[in-house]
Amino acid sequence: MNIMEYVQQLSDVCGVADLYHDRDELIKTYGDDICKYQYAIVIGHKMNEDIIEKIPLSYQDDEIAKEYLDEYYNSHQRAKKIAIKIADKIKQQNHNAIILDVAGDTDELNLKIPFSNKASAHIAGVGWIGKNNLLTTCEFGPRLTWVTILTDTPLADYVKNEMKSQCGDCQLCVNACPGDAIKNLDDPKLSYDPVKCGDYIMSRRDEGHPVACGMCLYICPYGNKKSAKILENKKKNLK
Ligand code: SF4
Ligand code: SF4
Repeated sequence: MNIMEYVQQLSDVCGVADLYHDRDELIKTYGDDICKYQYAIVIGHKMNEDIIEKIPLSYQDDEIAKEYLDEYYNSHQRAKKIAIKIADKIKQQNHNAIILDVAGDTDELNLKIPFSNKASAHIAGVGWIGKNNLLTTCEFGPRLTWVTILTDTPLADYVKNEMKSQCGDCQLCVNACPGDAIKNLDDPKLSYDPVKCGDYIMSRRDEGHPVACGMCLYICPYGNKKSAKILENKKKNLK
């Protein structure tokens, strides 16, 4: 079986980034090792829908908040298992494969800073980084966990261009964020304030609640059918 057929079988969303396309820029930021191999296979694994749908209740119910937090970590473990299977398959086909961990790092490479899985998914054209700073896909919104495999297996046929932001006029995450950490700006570097987000989550911890939020992940209309309907109706009323 072709390796990408195997990747498609195991993942919910997948793509391939050609790291040599922006080689100089990547090396400047992450160091030479990021381009040890030409391609990055990006795998998106869906988080549990039922648990995500309960996020609005998690602010009043610590058990639900804990369940979401557990799912956050468990989905990373599941994604990692998928990545291990794919890396093994690549190696069986006599190519090299290195898995980046959740934080975008690995002991096998000497990176200046971690190469985020979100960045590789964006380069691979499987989604865009939304106003909430989450990698967002048309199909499942931001309700996915990402993992990256760097490889020298030839994958030129699967490379796509970066996807432009599809946020448009939507500002559901801006309005819903309880930490006031998202602004209605197109550039996620400007729209998302990690300090405010962190402060809000830590304030929940200080009040004795689980360290979880996730409203921006829940509300995005690309993964949330109810939000999509609200947005659609709003657009109709504006016509
Ligand atoms: S995790 Fe919560 S506080 Fe942080 S940006 Fe998302 S909604 Fe706002
Ligand atoms: S909720 Fe709207 S603005 Fe926020 S990331 Fe999703 S599409 Fe973009």
